[in-house]
This record gives sequence, C-alpha cells and structure tokens, in this order.
Amino acid sequence: MSKELMQTAAKNLKKAVPLMLKHQIPTTPTNYALWYAYVGEQHPALVEKMDTIVSQYNTCPPVNAELLYREHISDPVEIDVLDMRQNLEAMTVELSQSLKDTNHDATQFQQKVDNNFNKLNQIEKEGLSLEKVLGLIRSLVKESEEIRSSTEYFTGRLEKAQNEIDALRAELKRSEKDVYYDALTGVLNRRAFDKELDGILSQAPEGTCLIMADIDYFKQFNDNYGHQLGDNVLKAVAKRLSEACRDGIKIYRYGGEEFAILVPNSHQRKARHLAEAMRRSLEKVSLKDRRKDQRIDNISASFGVCEWQKNESAGQLLERTDKFLYEAKRLGRNRVMPI
Ligand code: GH3
Ligand code: MG
Ligand code: MG
Repeated sequence: MSKELMQTAAKNLKKAVPLMLKHQIPTTPTNYALWYAYVGEQHPALVEKMDTIVSQYNTCPPVNAELLYREHISDPVEIDVLDMRQNLEAMTVELSQSLKDTNHDATQFQQKVDNNFNKLNQIEKEGLSLEKVLGLIRSLVKESEEIRSSTEYFTGRLEKAQNEIDALRAELKRSEKDVYYDALTGVLNRRAFDKELDGILSQAPEGTCLIMADIDYFKQFNDNYGHQLGDNVLKAVAKRLSEACRDGIKIYRYGGEEFAILVPNSHQRKARHLAEAMRRSLEKVSLKDRRKDQRIDNISASFGVCEWQKNESAGQLLERTDKFLYEAKRLGRNRVMPI
C-alpha cells in the first residue's frame, strides 16, 4: 500500500468507525467494506441509498447491507486480503486510541472530583454551613456517576467492537491462509510461489535453488482410472514430496501436475541430490484403485534443477529450470536434469 493510500485509508477509517459505532453497526467484513466505501464517497449511488436507509431505520439493517454490498462493492474475491488486513490494523490502532482517550477523560474527571472535595474540605473549615456543603457533595457525586456510567457505556461499546475486530482478524488470517494454499493437495500454491520467489530474489540471495517436478504420463491415470484417482495420485505425490522438504525448503503446486520446490542456502549439486531422493521416493508410492481393484505403483516424475545466478530474474530462472525439466522428459522421463 502506498503512503497516500494508507493516509486515505486512515482518514476514511477515522470517519467510518464513529459512524459504525453511532449506528450500532456490527464490524463484520461486509459492513466494514460498506461503511468504508460510504465515507470514501467513490460510489455516489451507494451514498445516496445508504443515506435513505439510515434516515429511515437509524441504522443499516443486515439485509440492506448485504444487498448494497453485492450491488456496489467489488466482487468479494477481488478484495485484496492484504489490503484489508492493513486497514484492520489501522482500525485497531484507531480504536485502542479511542479507548485510551476515554479512559484518560475518566481519569481527568476523577482528578477534578478529588480537587473539588479538597476544596470542600477547606470551605468547611472556613465555616460554610454543613447543609450547604452536603448539597455540593451530593451534586458532585451525582455528576460523577452520570459521567462514569456514560463512559462505561462507551468503553463497553468500544471493547465489543475491539473483540469483533479481533475475531475478524482471525477470520482474515484464515482466509489469507486459504489464498496461499492449494485446496486439493494442501501444499502452497502458485500465488504463494510467485510472491515468495519475488521476495527471495529481491534480496539477491546466493545459493537459492529451484527444482521443478512434473509427474510423468499423468494424463493416463485420469484416462484409465478416472479424475478422482488422478486427484489421489496428485495428493500422494504432494505428500511424498513435502515429506522430503526440511530446513526451510518449501514446496508449491505450480500447475496441474507440476510442483516447484524452493531450496534456500544450497548449491545446484545439493539441490540435485534432493531432487534425486524425491524422484526415488516417488517410485515407491503405491495407491489402490477401488473401482478396478488394482494397485497403481507406476508413478514417477521428471525433475529440472537450477541454482539462481546473480542478476537473474524469476522468469529467467524458471525458464532455465523448465528447459532441464523438458530435457528430462525428452530423454525418457523419471530422471533429474542436469545429471
Ligand atoms: P508428461 O509426462 O509429458 O508430463 O505427460 P502428462 O500426461 O503428465 O502431461 P499432460 O500435460 O499431457 O497432461 C497433464 C494432465 O493433468 C492434463 C490435465 O487434465 C490433468 N490435470 C491437471 N490438473 C488436474 C487435477 O487437479 N486433477 C486431475 N485429476 N487431473 C489434472
Ligand atoms: Mg506431466
Ligand atoms: Mg505438465
């Protein structure tokens, strides 16, 4: 997020949070996105509709919120989770500041009360009638109770909002996780790979190796035993390859039946050994096909291995590794290239 965007986000938050509190809007992702858009005024039609609804109900009922959200806010899939998280961080900071301010006000008030009591003591010494003194005390106590209960009310509301935000943040963390994991095999996905590789290469690390692995004749498993069995082969392969990943080595499902493995702090020779160990362990994978009551144990994969070269882009590294993978296929599959 750029600095300007962050500033706009913070500014919009300052407006959105009090409005949501005022109208007793639960801080769900939908409502948050909605009120954020409302104060941002990017959608005039949304602003107009929300104004009408709020003037009618003095809140925005969940059904209306849901409809408005669907109609005016971008496709939920489009919402950038990271962006959302940053907004949440800002919102949390904002709220805890409000909490502090409120508590601070309360403390100040308490000091004022104490001072007044001290003053009253003096007045008494100076000979004010007891009746008058008691009257003053009574009004002070009443005032302080009023302020205390409204402060407690406000603090309670803020604390509730804070809890909702914590829950929301946990939920976001989960969905953020979903964004980077492959649903079928449970390993990291292509999106995570691209992000990670860019991150690593931007630090120009010596000794980063890339292994690309592609299952051999995978299509035949689908064709001969059905897509379900094909999926099971993919899961078994991912599991076996993952088991070989230790010491910061990470595996990603790069595409259909293709996996990428990032090996940090290594050299091509060492990475090739790892690929070779992976290749051999895949030969031992064996699955049972229930439909045809057959054992599938002819699973293998081909591997290409490269060490990142100074000043090389992610694309160039991928291209070189892919060439070796292609070479492994061409030479008969079930092998690691270069030798
Ligand atoms: P090669 O040895 O040259 O790599 O041959 P191959 O059959 O493995 O390669 P090809 O690219 O011809 O076929 C890959 C197949 O993988 C095609 C596609 O239908 C299948 N596939 C891709 N993703 C999935 C998936 O998630 N599940 C299943 N069951 N099949 C998939
Ligand atoms: Mg293949
Ligand atoms: Mg392939």
